[in-house]
Order: sequence, then structure tokens, then C-alpha cells
Amino acid sequence: MSDKTYQVAIIGGGMVGATVACLLAEKGMSVALVDAGDPSAAWPEGGYDLRVSALTLASINLFKSLGVWDEIVQLGEQSVEKMFVWDHFGSGELDIDSADAGEMQMGSVVENRITVLALWKKLQSLATCDIFKSVQLEGFDTNEECVDIQLSNDTNIKAKLLVGADGSSSKMRQLSRIEHYGWGYQQKALVATVKSEKSHKNTAWQRFLPEGPLALLPLRDGLISIVWTSQTETTEAYLELSDSDFCDALAEASEHQLGSFELIGTRGAFPLKLQFSSEYCQQRMVLIGDAIHTIHPLAGQGANLGLKDAVTLANVVLKAHEARRDIASQQVLRRYERQRKGDNLLMMGIMDGFKRLFGADETLVKLTRSSGMGLINQSVLLKNQICKYAMGL
Ligand SMILES: Cc1cc2nc3c(=O)[nH]c(=O)nc-3n(C[C@H](O)[C@H](O)[C@H](O)COP(=O)(O)OP(=O)(O)OC[C@H]3O[C@@H](n4cnc5c(N)ncnc54)[C@H](O)[C@@H]3O)c2cc1C
Repeated sequence: MSDKTYQVAIIGGGMVGATVACLLAEKGMSVALVDAGDPSAAWPEGGYDLRVSALTLASINLFKSLGVWDEIVQLGEQSVEKMFVWDHFGSGELDIDSADAGEMQMGSVVENRITVLALWKKLQSLATCDIFKSVQLEGFDTNEECVDIQLSNDTNIKAKLLVGADGSSSKMRQLSRIEHYGWGYQQKALVATVKSEKSHKNTAWQRFLPEGPLALLPLRDGLISIVWTSQTETTEAYLELSDSDFCDALAEASEHQLGSFELIGTRGAFPLKLQFSSEYCQQRMVLIGDAIHTIHPLAGQGANLGLKDAVTLANVVLKAHEARRDIASQQVLRRYERQRKGDNLLMMGIMDGFKRLFGADETLVKLTRSSGMGLINQSVLLKNQICKYAMGL
């Protein structure tokens, strides 16, 4: 039974929660980070995390500024230099090279667990941060002065500010009165790690298929991480296939661009949904990352958006702290909400629009889509804009 008081308690030590913890604790604020899991536990020898993220240059720069990028590189990442997108219908295709935009790379593909491990390692070196691993949030009570937080290990802690970074099924969101809206896509994303016959050429490949996009992301060790979106029944059927039948189906779906495949490890699947919260904060509590926005992964932006939330929240909190004002006042928390809501809603709208555009079955839409891609592919200016957007710049 501890009753220690922190300036900030963060529920959820995934990529987003661990980042905000680093940003605050490295400036000397006292931080408690609580996570239901333990990223360092049971890392299988030679195994790969099925959850990977394409990080933009902006996110990479954030990790460099936190001093964790070298650790990520050591644990394993793969830079992305090019992007090749093509449509199942017609001849529409788009190839984008970061060199044309004057950059060495567009971003990097990193397994989520590697990013989290590097962030946790940094947190463990910061004197003002306590990590509560394999511990869950049970409940919290807020008053004028602080938040009383009940944890699953029979521990109570107090904090001036409680941050919910506990993902798309956020218990923090459920326990608060914050409403959220959204819909399921009746789709699942099948994820797997594969070895390809041909080199991935440091390129992110994406083919738009009738049921959804198939992304083949370059991964460390010359491997490829796939995210294959289909209707729920189709995904379940792919999960049932034998390894070799699955690899054959994948080669066919990717038009043999990378030759044949060999499956490394198991396959997994995530149901896809769009979800957003109407407000981001209440008395002494605030939500960030997937807890307030869950988007379609077709352009790999969810974690990158969450990292922007983390930076914005840390900035407003640190500013209030330096000015010796209440770090959890509504004025401070609403400033964060105002700065992030527009960007988050815009990205959600764009991803939802893309999903509908590329999922459309009407011939006219398909023709326009295909010729539109062809036109963009001929414009260096537009391609550079898309490239800068993909870099998060
Ligand atoms: C198939 C797929 C592919 C994707 N690809 C990309 C991509 O390429 N690029 C990109 O930017 N994004 C991508 N995303 C999105 C990205 O994975 C998420 O946006 C990101 O992981 C969200 O991070 P988070 O820290 O907010 O939440 P999470 O990663 O979900 O972390 C939440 C943490 O909270 C902890 N937790 C939960 N409940 C509790 C509790 N009650 N008590 C204590 N701890 C708790 C969990 O243990 C976990 O560690 C993809 C998503 C999917 C499904």
C-alpha cells in the first residue's frame, strides 16, 4: 500500500504513454508509469513482433531528441527509402523516392516492442520516474487537489495529473464520462512476418485490392511485415490456410512483385475500427494516443499521431510547470485538446476517405482512381508533397 504522490501518473506504457513519460521525467518531473504488461518479458529468441509501425521522419527525430533512437537502431529497424503503390484495377500506380524530396529516407519500420523497450530503458535511467509493470488501473477518484489512483497490486498512488495512454479499449476513457464515437469497418488486418524471394529494396509496397489494401513493409534482417486488410470472413479464411497455401495466396495478391514467400512465425489479425472521443480531458485527467483516436492503418499514421499528442501534452504541461502554475488546470489541458483535435480529426477523415475511395466498386470511381494515380505519378511536385506528408514534415 503506497500513497506516494507524483506530479503525473500515466496509465499505459505503450509507444505513446512511454514517450510522454520520457518527455516529462527527463525535465525532472516526478512520473509514475503504469502498464498492464512488461515489454521485456518473454521476448522469444530470434522472434519478431507482429505489431510494427512505419514511423515518420518526424517521429524518428522525436526519438533522436530523446536519445532513444540509437537503442532502437541497435535492437533493429529498417529504413524506408521508396514507396510503390498500385491498384488492382487498371494501370494506376505511384512510385515515390525520398531522394527526389532531398531526403535519405521517408521513415523507418520498427516493431512496436522494440520502440517500447528502448523508451522503457531510458525511463529506467531517469531518477524521477517509477515504472509499475504488470499492474493494471482499477479506478480513480478526482478532487480539486489531486487524483487518487487505485492499482491492481493493492497499491494506491496520487498524482496532480492522470494521463490515459491505455490504447483503443481505454479503461480510463470508460471510467471517465468522456464519450466516444465511431464504427467498425467489418474488416480485419492480417499481420505476419515473411521472407521474400526478391529483395524488398527498402521499399514500402502497397497494393489496393477489392477488399482492402495489402501492405508489404520492409523489416529488419531483409524480412517483410505484411498488413493485409480484407473483410472479416476473408481474413479468417486466410488464417485457416496452411503456411504454404497462405504464402501462395500472398504471392498472387502482390502480383509476384517480390516473388514467392516463406512465413516466419505465426499470423495474427486485428479488427479495424474508426473511433474518436468528443473531448480529450476532464478534471485533472487527459487522454492521448489510441485512447482518443483509432484510425484505419492503411497509411500507417496511428502511432505517429499519438506521438504528436505526446509532444503537445508534454509541452503544455512543462510550460505550466516552469511557470509554477497548476499543471492539470482546465486551461492547460484544453490548450492541448485545442492544439491536437483538428489534426487528429483531419487525419481520421483522410484515412476514412481513402478507405472508401479504394474500396469503391463502381466502375467510374475505379477509372477516376486509376487515372488519378497515373496523373499524380507524372507530377514531381505532387509526388514530393506526398513524400513530405508521409515523412510527417
Ligand atoms: C495492423 C495495424 C498496423 C498498424 N500500423 C501502423 C503504422 O505503420 N504506423 C503507425 O503510426 N501506426 C500504426 N498502427 C497504429 C498503432 O499501432 C497505434 O496507433 C499505436 O500502437 C497506439 O499506441 P498507444 O500507445 O496509444 O496504444 P497501445 O499501443 O495500444 O498501448 C496501450 C498500452 O496500455 C496498456 N494498458 C491497457 N489497459 C491498461 C490498464 N487498464 N492498466 C494499465 N495498462 C493498460 C497496454 O498494456 C499497452 O501497453 C497500426 C495498427 C494496426 C492495428
